[in-house]
Amino acid sequence: MAVPKRRTSKKVKNQRRTHKKLTVPGMVECSNCGELTISHRVCKACGHYDGKEVVEL
Ligand SMILES: [Zn+2]
Repeated sequence: MAVPKRRTSKKVKNQRRTHKKLTVPGMVECSNCGELTISHRVCKACGHYDGKEVVEL
C-alpha cells in the first residue's frame, strides 16, 4: 500500500481546506448589503432584489 513520504504541513493542510466552507446550500450574499440570504428571494435585511429595492422597510 502507498504511504505518504512526508507528513502534510499545517500550511498545506489549511491551503487545501480554503475551498471547504460551512455554507447552507441555496444561500447567497446579497449584492446590496452583503447579508446571507436565500437565492431568488428578496433580501430580508434590506429588501433588495435584482439590484432594486422591492420591499420597503
Ligand atoms: Zn440585502
